[in-house]
Amino acid sequence: TPAKEGKMFIKALFDYEPNEDKAIPCKEAGLSFRKGDILQIMSQDDATWWQAKHEGDANPRAGLIPSKQFQERRFALRRPEVQVQPLKTSNRKSSGFRRSFRLSRKDRKTNKSMYECKKSDQYDTADVPTYEEVGKYRRPTNEKYRLVVLVGPVGVGLNELKRKLLISDTQHYGVTVPHTTRPRRSQESDGVEYIFISKHLFETDVQNNKFIEYGEYKNNYYGTSIDSVRSVLAKNKVCLLDVQPHTVKHLRTLEFKPFVIFIKPPSIERLRDTRKNAKIISSKDEKGAAKPFTEDDFQEMIKSAQIMESQYGHLFDQVIVNDDLTTAYNELRTAFDKLETETFWVPVSWLH
Ligand code: 5GP
Repeated sequence: TPAKEGKMFIKALFDYEPNEDKAIPCKEAGLSFRKGDILQIMSQDDATWWQAKHEGDANPRAGLIPSKQFQERRFALRRPEVQVQPLKTSNRKSSGFRRSFRLSRKDRKTNKSMYECKKSDQYDTADVPTYEEVGKYRRPTNEKYRLVVLVGPVGVGLNELKRKLLISDTQHYGVTVPHTTRPRRSQESDGVEYIFISKHLFETDVQNNKFIEYGEYKNNYYGTSIDSVRSVLAKNKVCLLDVQPHTVKHLRTLEFKPFVIFIKPPSIERLRDTRKNAKIISSKDEKGAAKPFTEDDFQEMIKSAQIMESQYGHLFDQVIVNDDLTTAYNELRTAFDKLETETFWVPVSWLH
């Protein structure tokens, strides 16, 4: 509607290059943008081509971008699909099923293009990400801290980063206590390592959508409940949560307003250089045999990161490359400081 012109902001969820667009009436008039860019909509008079500027760009001239409706239609016609097979369990303890985002063996072997693969029903290929209407949000001082979701491939160092943050300020950061149906071990206490519940109750809770994620390991269920996130936030702490990227969508609500950080591996050369003597360690415990990284692990990490980025990149608020752990940690700290003090572009539905 014309009343909105110049007042509407959108986040681009895909890359756009007018020079490569056969449909655009005039390539020179097009506006190129990258996934994640914030655009100010200047006109929606035309159903196919909107006029937009990069947010904060002083240049008063707007450029053409495909309208949401038009782009959705184009995407629907040539939807890139990726085949990803989640491994439920693995003999390597460290992978668990918590971070089991792996490539199918076929994919690894043939090294074929990610875009030629078949559809996998586990992943939400239904939504066609084009643009998301956004507005600026600043955490009110009287409001609870927020949920920070960390995603990344197995072995990228996500858990080390999480642990470093936690111990740096236990008053400020908190993590969820998972539920499990396995018997409590003698040194464990209920509500500390886990919340121990019966299989029957777990199944009921699953039915009632109480879990953000859950899985099965050695005939027991494990899962993270939505309430466990709430109880960390209720303590006025930043809740650090690491989940598989397909669960992020469900957490993006007004209540949680998650800030999503993707921890990305560096180049394979850097992985070889920096992780030579390192080991893959488990997300929950180091009791299981931590094994040295193999060349296969590195390749899988890179591929898995590529898939995550291509499928879920539009949900990431920030990307941090974990080349050197200290540098990545400092970047993470800076991001957290900004979260407290600066404004962020969030979906408009979170602003009401
Ligand atoms: P343990 O029984 O030795 O404490 O844990 C066994 C496995 O359960 C670990 O490898 C861990 O990764 C997994 N696990 C622990 N908590 C959760 C959780 O909240 N969700 C999921 N999906 N897996 C978990």
